[in-house]
Parts: sequence; C-alpha cells; structure tokens
Amino acid sequence: MQRILFVFLDGIGLGPAGPHNPFTKTEYTALCHLAGEASWTAPLPVVDRPTRVVRPLDATLGVEGLPQSGTGQAALFTGVNCASLVGRHFGPFPHSATHEVLAERNVFRRVAEAVRDDGTTAASPPGAAFANAYPPQFFEQARRRGRWTVTTRSCLEAGVAVRDADALRRGCAVPADLTGWAWREKLGLDVPVVSAAESGRHLAEIARSHRLTLFEYFLTDKLGHGRLDAEPEDLLGQLDAFFGALIDDLDPDADTLVVTSDHGNLEDLSSTVHTRNPVPLFVAGWAAPYFRSASSLLDVTPAIAAALRDAGPRSAPHP
Ligand SMILES: [Zn+2]
Repeated sequence: MQRILFVFLDGIGLGPAGPHNPFTKTEYTALCHLAGEASWTAPLPVVDRPTRVVRPLDATLGVEGLPQSGTGQAALFTGVNCASLVGRHFGPFPHSATHEVLAERNVFRRVAEAVRDDGTTAASPPGAAFANAYPPQFFEQARRRGRWTVTTRSCLEAGVAVRDADALRRGCAVPADLTGWAWREKLGLDVPVVSAAESGRHLAEIARSHRLTLFEYFLTDKLGHGRLDAEPEDLLGQLDAFFGALIDDLDPDADTLVVTSDHGNLEDLSSTVHTRNPVPLFVAGWAAPYFRSASSLLDVTPAIAAALRDAGPRSAPHP
C-alpha cells in the first residue's frame, strides 16, 4: 500500500540566514537532511529528484498583508485560494466564507474521492487519519463556541476521527507538543510523557495503516509570536529528534513524507508577527515527482490526491 504522511508545521518561512533566524544553525541533522542537506533558510536550493523534492512555496496567495493561519491552512488543505475568497488573510480560525470549501474540498475528502474505486465511500475516507490528540478542554471550547480549527473542521466534515486523550493513552495518537508534557503539567491530565523521538516512531506506526496521515505541529508559530516559554534551539532540537526517528521508521518503498507550513513567523525572531516569506516544501518518497512543479500553498493537496489516486486501489500492506 502506497502511503503519504503529511506533517504540517505552523509558522515556518524561509528567511535569510542571520542572528534573528534560528534555522541558520546547521546542527539539526534531520531537518537539514529533509532539505537535501541544506539549512531551512533562503535561498533554499531546489531539489528535483525521483524520490526527493525541495521547493519554496508562495504563502501570500496574491493577497496583500500578512498571511494568517485561517486562510493559509484552508488553502493548504483544500488547494482553493481561500485568502482571495475572503478578500484578505484571516485567522487563526477559518473564516465563515471558507466553511463550504473546507467541507467539500478538504484533503481527506479529496483523497477519499481520488481512491473511491477501492469500494469505500466518500463519507468514510479509506484509511485517512489525523494523528493529533486533543485534550477535553479543546472539545469543550470548540463545541461551546462552535469554532473548530481548519484541520479539526476538515476531519468533522470528512468523517475522520478527531483523536482524544483516551486515544493518546491507548497509543493511537500523538500529542501536539510531541511529548505530552504540556498535557500533564499545564492541563493536569494523566497521560504518558514520552520523548520527541518516541513520538516520531509512533507517528510512523500510525501512518503504516493509513493511505493518508496528517500531523499538525503549532509550537513553532507560538514561539514565533513570543507566546511560548522555550528557547528556539531547544524546540528545533526536539523537532529534529522527532523527524530523525520518524524518517528512520518510514519505509522508503511505500511511504512519502510531505512537510510544509502555512506562513512565515519563526524564521524572523526580530518580530512577533507573521512574515510574507515563502514556506519550505520537503517531499521524500515515491510521490515526490507529483510535487516537482508546486509553487504555492495551493499545489499541495492536489498533488497528494493525484499521487494516491495514481497509486491505485488499496492493496495488501507492503511486505
Ligand atoms: Zn500565528
């Protein structure tokens, strides 16, 4: 079974190397490996090989102002220009003008449509998973305000489970902070605390039983806004350990790892707002050629759907 694992990192753009850009340091071996042995800085060397594509993506979507997560993620996870639909960048939650597009065109649904000939229906996407776990507080707030994030709204619309604390305890989900520390220390929840590397292995395991698996990481954006009590080096070190273990556990014949972001932020620590920088796209695995001409956020979801469609109906898991 050919699979795609999509790791979405919030708030990472490509800025010039320098003292304000934490990605300037080159000791992050897994991060640099993803970029074809380069640092995540501008200008990012483009890579176009049969199993590896590296490209900068436009995140401004032709709209003035600073890109925001609501419209940026909606564009990324649907392939529809939601910033131009709204008439401006909007976030962090999805704008009401994009709810219909999110319902009809989200990546889970598009993958379901693309592989529908395997006998399943659009209402139950074949093997699509959203690996993040959400704490009870998230569900309470979202229900009370009727306000879901782009990813959780996409899940609800496509019939994909939004995983909770029980799923995390059963080992069927990954905590958004990679370790579960925040769940335990900040929310007082009884969940296991693991290393970022363990979470990487864990995510690879979840991805093995799904055609498409999505994981979302947003501490990078939070740190860029100055709203996280952590050193950039420590956070990027954790992310590096996570990707190192994850990449080790993927099957190069069956898995494709897709990594990208929705807008810049963390790459410029001289300000606490988003940037208009391009975001990086890293693709490693069999589906890489589908992304070779990707140039903006709009090109990611169509490439995922096309790759899984062409990979054909579900077959027996790879031996
Ligand atoms: Zn932000």
